[in-house]
Amino acid sequence: MKLGIFGGTFNPVHNGHIELVRHFADLAGLDKALLIPTKIPPHKASKNLLSGQIRFEMCSLAVESDERIEVSDVELRREGDSYTIDTLKTLEKLYVGAQLYLIMGADMLMCLDSWRDYRGIIDRCVICAAARNDDSVEELLLKAKTLDIPDDKVIISNEEIMTVSSTEIREKIKNGISVRGLIPRAVEEYIASNGLYL
Ligand code: ATP
Repeated sequence: MKLGIFGGTFNPVHNGHIELVRHFADLAGLDKALLIPTKIPPHKASKNLLSGQIRFEMCSLAVESDERIEVSDVELRREGDSYTIDTLKTLEKLYVGAQLYLIMGADMLMCLDSWRDYRGIIDRCVICAAARNDDSVEELLLKAKTLDIPDDKVIISNEEIMTVSSTEIREKIKNGISVRGLIPRAVEEYIASNGLYL
């Protein structure tokens, strides 16, 4: 089984996230992909950083029409700080024998060496990264080389993913500007009916 893993704060989840995960699901032929909302440390919480439960719900609404994608609460449920390496170890136990594909944006690959036990991460999965904005594919390939990731354990894509960020979404909503088309419709309705990000 080929299992994609895509972690993020998803505050809120937007169409760039969904496009990215679908793109790699197609490209790598994934059987399933998990959206994994990360826990936000209490000291970082603010009015605009919504609870794990709400971010989880928005992710669930975003993927309800795509049966390949599921939302996992594996990081929200874990006590203490959340590290990707621990998530991978947990998933290895839940999905015995699965090949893991770690999906991320370019910014994440560029700082992968600052992640806890990044060698353990590289050993455990195929790294899937997409260029974001002007990040060049060459730059990402070079980074993968510097990190000593074997060629068969990295997929760098230059697929154009919608240029949008959760920050932009939050600001637009706060300023009363429409986010139509930038986030899934069901998420848009959920945010509006619960008066989030105002
Ligand atoms: P924020 O603006 O709040 O920092 P974000 O939009 O970057 O949020 P995150 O939940 O932090 O979203 O991102 C999760 C992952 O998705 C990261 O690896 C990030 O690089 C990637 N990502 C987010 N938006 C895009 C996009 N439009 N294109 C490609 N990758 C993206």
